[in-house]
Amino acid sequence: KIRTRIAPSPTGFLHLGTARTALYSWGYARHHGGEFVLRIEDTDVARSTQDSVDQILASMKWLGLEYDEGPVYQMQRLDRYREVVDQLIAKGRAYRCYTTPAELDAMREAQKARGEKTHYDGRWRPEPGKVLPTPPAGVQPVIRFANPKDGAVTWDDLCKGPITISNHEIDDLIIMRADGVPTYNFAVVVDDWDMQISHVFRGDEHVNNTPWQINIFNALGAPLPRFGHVPVILGDDGQKLSKRRGAVSVTAYEEAGFLPEGMLNYLARLGWSHGDEELFTREQFIAWFDGSHLSKSPAQWDAAKLAWVNAHYIKTIDEQRLASLVVDQLKRRGIDSSVASVARTVPLFKDRCSTTVELADWVAMYFADVSPTSEDLSAHVTDVVKPALPTLRAKLEAAEWVKPAIGAAIKETLAAHSLKMPQLAHAVRVLVCGRAQTPSLDAVLELFSKETVLSRLQVA
Ligand code: GLU
Repeated sequence: KIRTRIAPSPTGFLHLGTARTALYSWGYARHHGGEFVLRIEDTDVARSTQDSVDQILASMKWLGLEYDEGPVYQMQRLDRYREVVDQLIAKGRAYRCYTTPAELDAMREAQKARGEKTHYDGRWRPEPGKVLPTPPAGVQPVIRFANPKDGAVTWDDLCKGPITISNHEIDDLIIMRADGVPTYNFAVVVDDWDMQISHVFRGDEHVNNTPWQINIFNALGAPLPRFGHVPVILGDDGQKLSKRRGAVSVTAYEEAGFLPEGMLNYLARLGWSHGDEELFTREQFIAWFDGSHLSKSPAQWDAAKLAWVNAHYIKTIDEQRLASLVVDQLKRRGIDSSVASVARTVPLFKDRCSTTVELADWVAMYFADVSPTSEDLSAHVTDVVKPALPTLRAKLEAAEWVKPAIGAAIKETLAAHSLKMPQLAHAVRVLVCGRAQTPSLDAVLELFSKETVLSRLQVA
């Protein structure tokens, strides 16, 4: 049975990289009719917060990555980790280590002085015929995994292909701290084993952890999952995508007016491809995502492409839903509106927007006062145009409030004052819409109430 998982640490929001691995894990499970599990890796007690758990769950929900099990919290499984530690100790595959931090420092200094790579020297590791030091009184030991001394660890990575790492390069890892809390590399193995995870997708910053994990799986007699280490995401500047270089949380993109459809579609392509397909639905992704065509090289974040992908969904999603998202955006600006009234306005603007924030920028003029800049006023509401404004106002006042009649009132005003369309249109736009460029003026005006247009023209 195919079982995948995503295992975020709740030390912050859901990172875009984690969202992408979640998408791959979810897609792979769905493709195979398997199951997808959410696990919260909260063993870093000092840095884990409930607020972060809430944000991660909210982002998963927003993206529509529904899980079949979970959230499972590691801190609720401490007894289980201790039980497995005891099994490993009993098998001679783990041991208590009393080395103090000061001793570890001295060990590393001595190794450095000899030009060696620093590593734990195995002083507490039981060996046949070896006499271990006497445990110091009152010191709680850590537990170390007795890593195989010889041979190598090999696996066929779903992204990177075959990888081999010699056991000589791996020292005896701490698997449980003195306080009884397991470390990442141990808890992850016990969990992936207990949860019967068949495929692990995760960021390639974990590649170096995998040999330890495979050795622990083997020591436990547990079946190995397949691993796929997804390459990092680089920012526009070629550096690892990080908070300092811009938005890296799913929440930030939600707030910036992106749609979950757009995010998923964009993230899917960031490290995976299906021929030349750029725009696809969740269903197509599930049908296509079989674990092949994962990229080996880092992906480059491309804000312009994300905007382009999102624009496609702004154009195509259900208009009522789009309107309700714009209502939310307007509310955040303190502007009250309703889905029905916003829904009347979005068709005119949505083709020129890539986010709901941009759409809200456009339609805000229908629900709140506008404040034209003094530059726009002096550039467009000129002495040449001003005399025509009362004429237009009078004609609009008398007109039936439909596009053809509004258009006719504009044309008659142009003729009466010998003006060209752009002169009058720019002035009216600045006054009524607060900006000089808009879609066709009659269409834009028709969406206002007649009273609003008349009163905004009155000010001139
Ligand atoms: N908690 C780890 C992380 O957030 C999970 C890595 C894994 O998937 O094994 O990076």
